[in-house]
Amino acid sequence: MKRKFVKVGRDVYSHSLVVGLIERYHGISQDPKEIMRSLVRGRLDAARDFGWGGPPFDPRVLASTMGIHAEGSRKLTLSDDAELHPTSNGKLVIRYNPDRPKARQNFSIAHEISHTFFPNYQDQINARYRFETYDPHNELELLCDVGASEIILPSPEFDSDVSQKGISLSSLKSLSTRYEASPEATAIRMIGTSICPCALLVLDFEHKPVELSQIEAAKYQLSLFDEGPPRTPSTKLRVQYCVSSKRFSTFIPKHKSIDESCALYDVSVNTEEYRGNVRFPLEYQELEFYAEAMAIPSRFDSDLGSRVLAILLLQ
Ligand SMILES: [Zn+2]
Repeated sequence: MKRKFVKVGRDVYSHSLVVGLIERYHGISQDPKEIMRSLVRGRLDAARDFGWGGPPFDPRVLASTMGIHAEGSRKLTLSDDAELHPTSNGKLVIRYNPDRPKARQNFSIAHEISHTFFPNYQDQINARYRFETYDPHNELELLCDVGASEIILPSPEFDSDVSQKGISLSSLKSLSTRYEASPEATAIRMIGTSICPCALLVLDFEHKPVELSQIEAAKYQLSLFDEGPPRTPSTKLRVQYCVSSKRFSTFIPKHKSIDESCALYDVSVNTEEYRGNVRFPLEYQELEFYAEAMAIPSRFDSDLGSRVLAILLLQ
């Protein structure tokens, strides 16, 4: 009988295509991220035999070795970035937004290629998510991002570059240019090499989940009782997400707000790079790290400040 969900460590997967992937490739691993990486690596090995190489690793060329045509298009209907469509002759075409920065185009195309590794992927027309509707719990989309990262920043080249250059902001900027990948995608992959205990912290101005529920509830009340507009709480600089290497055991909670006295707050407001110590007071302890941080483009227009990308290293 087909399973409805699969539990892997703390993660539970219930998307039918993800469960289908785990069932088909359980011989590789039970973890769909490992399955995705393994399938991508197999495909890259085949493409390398056709002369595909890098850095930079061009996903358009990879697509062509798989019989998929990739073309720029300003007529995307489902996404602002890229879409995967079947053609009338049974082939596939990836249409991508040529007005996006090159690094973003590359990642979007690689993301669409990753959709083709799922059994029965044809059942859906796939589109790279819009930022506004991005749901971090969307298992299928996150696994395609794992695949895209492996395509644009592949082993063994990327791992050996990180071992040579180390983990720092200057290494991140140089590798992001070399691989034509965004600093954020490069940083996530860099932390994943686990050459030392480190973490990536991405901060943005957001509401915390309870405030979002209150805002939604207030909208409903407004329509019921025709009251004046509710007072919306202002956003604060918060932890959007944190990615840790294997030996970085400190837990930094998602949505934690960053105090205005923290050096990372200045990075957001002044958009100047920072290298030095940072402190995070938590409920029962104070954490201190050496951090290297820079501003990155925000998802939403905010007058308050930019998003911040910070590499944390244990002292
Ligand atoms: Zn997608």
